[in-house]
Amino acid sequence: MKNIYSETREQLEDYFLSMNEKKFKALQCFEWLYEKRNSNIEEWSNIKKEIRAKMKEDFSFTMPKIIKRERDDLTEKYLLELEDGEHIEAVLMRHDYGNSVCVSSEVGCNMGCAFCESGRLKKIRNLETYEMVCQILLIEELMKERISSVVIMGIGEPLDNYENVINFVKIINDAKGIAIGARHITLSTCGLVPKIKELMNLPLQINLAISFHASNNELRNKLMPVNKMYNINELLDTLKTYIDKTNRRITIEYVMLNKINDREENAEELASLLKGMNVYVNLIPYNETNHLEYEKSSKNQILKFYDTLKKNKINVTIRKEFGSKISAACGQLRSKEVSQKHEIR
Ligand code: SAH
Repeated sequence: MKNIYSETREQLEDYFLSMNEKKFKALQCFEWLYEKRNSNIEEWSNIKKEIRAKMKEDFSFTMPKIIKRERDDLTEKYLLELEDGEHIEAVLMRHDYGNSVCVSSEVGCNMGCAFCESGRLKKIRNLETYEMVCQILLIEELMKERISSVVIMGIGEPLDNYENVINFVKIINDAKGIAIGARHITLSTCGLVPKIKELMNLPLQINLAISFHASNNELRNKLMPVNKMYNINELLDTLKTYIDKTNRRITIEYVMLNKINDREENAEELASLLKGMNVYVNLIPYNETNHLEYEKSSKNQILKFYDTLKKNKINVTIRKEFGSKISAACGQLRSKEVSQKHEIR
């Protein structure tokens, strides 16, 4: 049975039309779910009893549960239990411009990036759309605060769960849904080229971030197995088309790994790859994990890397560090929780 929070407004409209009902019923459902935040269909007084009875047969109205919270000053991390007992995490970050939430898109991840905690636990399944929507609803309810931006940068590769993720984006972006502006939604991918091509044809003005993390194919092959399938040249060609087509700037994420990818020659190499493209580079201080072979770069090294990119006229920022005290690196909390349950790679 489908969960009601997995339905986009369009899908609900089709549902009502197929029952010979008016499509504005979908709008009324959205008002109950997202404006009044009421999932008790018995109380949906403007929807006829017979229709409610039918809907109860066709949809479930349940949500995952938050079972653990860890927090420091600016960050709060939640461990969620799904209905089949699997665990995922979501992170709330407080910025001066508002709250953002980092959502997970899969249970585990198959991309196998060498430095990433999420990839130690193989993908078990996709998240359903409602399991992503509820990450936001549950946090808003618990904190009694609104979330103004969403980054799809938690556990999982969003473009490996394309359809559910796109429906999630449609629901949170819908003015009658959670109403988060497309410019405040960022999808981060390790670079699944065919899906990036699909994404550029959708009329969604969301931000795209690419986990790049290396300045040549040899290095990227070692850090990110996906590069063996879609290498840097192919990825950059696709990104150029994306930029031409959408007129949008792309974020290039570059996690700074001590003595692995943080030398000045890496910065020079990266600059020449990105020359002339409408991108900006976000340097990410590595959040140290159980992958003991990877350490964070020194502040000094990050600054030198930054300067070299600047000197080459590449737009660049250094990401503020969030939550390093509370195991906020992708997958850390979940990996602690499930290390007994599933085998860790
Ligand atoms: N699969 C998607 C989104 C999830 S990862 C992607 O690859 O983009 C979100 C970002 O965090 C990616 O850029 C990832 O490479 C990075 N990341 C993973 N582990 C990290 C760590 N320990 N410290 C800092 N960044 C990390």
